[in-house]
Amino acid sequence: MQKDDKTEVLIIGQGLAGTMLSYHLLKNNIAHKLIDVPKNGSASRAAAGLINPIVVKRVTKTWQANIFQPYAHALYQELEQHLNTRFYYPMPVYKLYGKDDEQFWQHRQEKEQLGDYLSVKAQHDLPQGFHQPFGYGTIHPCARLDMAHMLDAYRQFLIKNDNLIEADFNDDDLELHSEGVKWRNIKAQRVIFCRGSSDAQSRFFSHHKWNNTKGELLDVKIAGLELKSIISKGVFVMPVGPQQFKIGATYAHHWNDLAPSANKQEELLDKWQRIADLPLNVQKQITGIRPTFADRRPVTQQSDKHPQIGLFNGLGSRGGLMAPYLAKEMAMNILKQ
Ligand SMILES: Cc1cc2nc3c(=O)[nH]c(=O)nc-3n(C[C@H](O)[C@H](O)[C@H](O)COP(=O)(O)OP(=O)(O)OC[C@H]3O[C@@H](n4cnc5c(N)ncnc54)[C@H](O)[C@@H]3O)c2cc1C
Repeated sequence: MQKDDKTEVLIIGQGLAGTMLSYHLLKNNIAHKLIDVPKNGSASRAAAGLINPIVVKRVTKTWQANIFQPYAHALYQELEQHLNTRFYYPMPVYKLYGKDDEQFWQHRQEKEQLGDYLSVKAQHDLPQGFHQPFGYGTIHPCARLDMAHMLDAYRQFLIKNDNLIEADFNDDDLELHSEGVKWRNIKAQRVIFCRGSSDAQSRFFSHHKWNNTKGELLDVKIAGLELKSIISKGVFVMPVGPQQFKIGATYAHHWNDLAPSANKQEELLDKWQRIADLPLNVQKQITGIRPTFADRRPVTQQSDKHPQIGLFNGLGSRGGLMAPYLAKEMAMNILKQ
């Protein structure tokens, strides 16, 4: 008979949430194992990875931006060192101004004290082909996080340390005991679910008000174009390699399947044409499901009914910004208990 294996925490799902939580447990010497199997629709594998502390449309700070942004910035750089690879690229966002936007930004900057985040004075130095009759304003500090590469590198690290179990986790296989949980031959004090949008189908979490959205973006080649910043107006254009860019992203509250949709490609290309008059070559259309709750706030809590079960989910469209700090808080709570 197989001997029981013991650990403190079982994490289910190695997307952004599971990866961030695992790294913070590691930093606090909390023993854990991760169970994950690649699933279609994984948000972190689809994400563009834009990290932006400002809501572009309303010109206001995102929720807790002054806490989340500096922590995320330091943490991703620390993790790069730990994994000995690069996936975090600081770069500003240039917002192409409409007719009265410069005055509006000035007003918002003063009212909301956004001096650390905005450079309002219109600049006009984008490469030829961009429509910039009113120039652009700058948002900083922002970044591109190559989530897929970070996840791959962390996965190799988990495998090397024998902490990853590649398995499709089924809720029915979880045994709940007064002193913890058991899954197959592994006993743990608690289990934290980080399965992204899949957790909406779980009987443990069906009482939450889920409002997941399907997102799509394009990988494109734009011959001859070089950018060192992200350009935004309706959609964003993000440099990811020589002449390679991501254009995104769309939002849909209802969808039939995970396949790329022709009308979303049209929507993105239409918005691109309002940004620039430069021919591009669409190489790939990517889709994923953003795990989101109706109130748009993430959840990092234990179940009331089963204290051995926790949930880290609902990162929505700003997971890259929020996940590091939230994972730190969760790890600290586990440590205290
Ligand atoms: C098109 C698109 C663009 C986006 N752009 C950005 C952006 O620019 N900036 C930003 O910050 N955020 C962006 N996001 C949002 C971001 O991707 C999410 O906030 C974040 O990735 C959510 O991570 P997660 O770990 O909660 O979920 P996921 O990434 O979905 O991870 C869930 C993990 O659980 C695994 N899993 C699921 N079920 C099981 C099971 N039964 N057994 C084992 N494993 C399982 C999956 O395979 C996956 O590895 C975007 C999302 C999309 C879809």
